[in-house]
Order: sequence, then structure tokens, then C-alpha cells
Amino acid sequence: MHETSIALSILAAVEDAFRSTPGARRVTRIRLQVGMLSLIDPEALRFALRVVSRGTPAEDAEIDIEMVEPRFRCQSCGHEWGPSPEDVKRISEDPNLSTLVHIHPDALARYLRCPRCQGGNVEITRGHGVVLHSVSIETDGDEGGEA
Ligand SMILES: [Zn+2]
Repeated sequence: MHETSIALSILAAVEDAFRSTPGARRVTRIRLQVGMLSLIDPEALRFALRVVSRGTPAEDAEIDIEMVEPRFRCQSCGHEWGPSPEDVKRISEDPNLSTLVHIHPDALARYLRCPRCQGGNVEITRGHGVVLHSVSIETDGDEGGEA
């Protein structure tokens, strides 16, 4: 399952942050930004993260997931735009495109055209992956803190 492998890589990054924090006791909050083009189901990701973090310091962490709308940028004329909900739907319902988004999101950019100059040199600036935005860690120095 796709979400499980993503959850494992998020957990690895969270555990890195935990290990590099002096006096770390437990992870209280994990903030994630999920790009809509990643076609990841946020609830499936949350569930997967719960499962893989069992027995780790992140076991009881709150998981905040913010959905990020995609933005595209034309490298020829500098025009920036976001896809319409219809575009996102079209991508998610086209088996070839949605596979592409999963395996290599940047390859999707080759299928995009700039609405202003019709140029095909388009970059996806955000909204195509999962970003670990921040990790809150309770330490021995905390007096309750953010619990
Ligand atoms: Zn353009």
C-alpha cells in the first residue's frame, strides 16, 4: 500500500528529529503537508502512520494534515497558475496520469501547457508530494508544555 511506504519514510524523519533533540521524551505533534496531486488519501496516511509508529516515541503524537493545492509555473513566461478541480479530477481518473503522479510527479509536468503562452516547459512548484512540515517534541526540560 502506497500510504504505508510514505508513512515509514515520515516516521524515519520524525525519529531522526527525536534522536537529535536532547532530553527528548516523546513526540507530541506531527504536521504534514499533503499535495493534492499526490493523490494520497489523508485518512489512509493518518491510519498508516498510527500503525507504523506503534511502539515508537511518536505513538501518541497528534497528526495534523494540511492539504496543499497544486501550483504550476511556466518557465518560459513566468506565469503561475493552479489547476482547476476538473484538472485534478482528470488526472486522478486517468490511470496513466495517476500512475505517473505516484511514481514520478515531475513527469506530469510534461503533460501540462501554459495557459498564457502555450509553452510546454512547466514546473510543478508545489502540491505533488508529502512534506513533513514540523515535529513537536516534549523534552525533560518541558513543564507540561504542549501535551
Ligand atoms: Zn507561459
